Amino acid sequence: MQEKTLTGKFYDIQGFSVHDGPGIRLTLFMKGCPLRCPWCHSPESQAFQTELNWMSIKCVGIEKCGKCLNACPNGAISVGRKKQSVTGDEELTLIDIDRDKCDNCGKCAEACPAKALYMCGTDYTIDEIMQRVYRDKPFFDRSGGGITVSGGECLYQPDFLEALLKRCKEEGVHTAVDTTGYADWSILERILPYTDLFLYDLKHLDSEMHRRVIGVPNERILENVKKLAAAGARLQIRIPVIPLFNDSVEEFDKYGAFIKELGDAVEVVQLLPYHTLGTVKWERLSRKGPILEATPPSDAFMQERKKQLEEYGLKVIIH
Ligand code: SF4
Ligand code: SF4
Repeated sequence: MQEKTLTGKFYDIQGFSVHDGPGIRLTLFMKGCPLRCPWCHSPESQAFQTELNWMSIKCVGIEKCGKCLNACPNGAISVGRKKQSVTGDEELTLIDIDRDKCDNCGKCAEACPAKALYMCGTDYTIDEIMQRVYRDKPFFDRSGGGITVSGGECLYQPDFLEALLKRCKEEGVHTAVDTTGYADWSILERILPYTDLFLYDLKHLDSEMHRRVIGVPNERILENVKKLAAAGARLQIRIPVIPLFNDSVEEFDKYGAFIKELGDAVEVVQLLPYHTLGTVKWERLSRKGPILEATPPSDAFMQERKKQLEEYGLKVIIH
């Protein structure tokens, strides 16, 4: 496909990121992911298609509006539950969305004056993304930053990803790819020449546990990271620290030994403490978030795990 007409689907673009690689970065979040992490704080990243979101807090209620009820050609929107207004002085009737009837046509979002209904997932061409890149480039140059393509899982839009990274390298922009590593090696091989740094997730080293909790086994992920290290890639290993899943002393000893084997390819290990900030986003998709009865780890706990990995000779950061 011609680069001019090639599009990638994104659910968010964030400028001035400082935790997704070196310097100030433009982080581009591509839509769609084959993994189902129970702690996912961006559930809107999971589906590959553009989909309807609804923020109940913005809805002014059917009594005052109700425009979406008539806008839907599929009868997917009906009268829902009652709730108190934000100011607490009136009762509103909200809507209910039948996701089985909804085909994500977007007509209700167009009709919603409060922007309570909105479509998540926008297609951009390479040129459109590059306009953002050029705008932020002075900040990249001053801080040693660049772009980070994240997700979702960006390796599932390989043609666009390769073309975008190639273009950035031609323009002298540092490139990082944030990935689960769950894809064919041939895709990583394609983007390797244009990727300065891989932010590579290692969620669990035991394949059965990985499959049971996240939905897919991990052999391919572990193989791919070894191949990347052997092929000369630069790696920032990312470990989400999830209580009762991968946070034990035993698991961290396994992490230490495995990452050390990757050798000099590993620049740094980044520990990402579990948090609950994304919980509200599940409601916007009319989905119940997975119930994970976990308390975010304390600073002291994170420091202990950091120290444990440092004993393997690794550089470790916490964010
Ligand atoms: S996106 Fe389309 S089908 Fe879905 S609820 Fe809105 S109007 Fe109906
Ligand atoms: S159109 Fe928007 S604000 Fe109006 S009732 Fe529907 S969701 Fe609420």
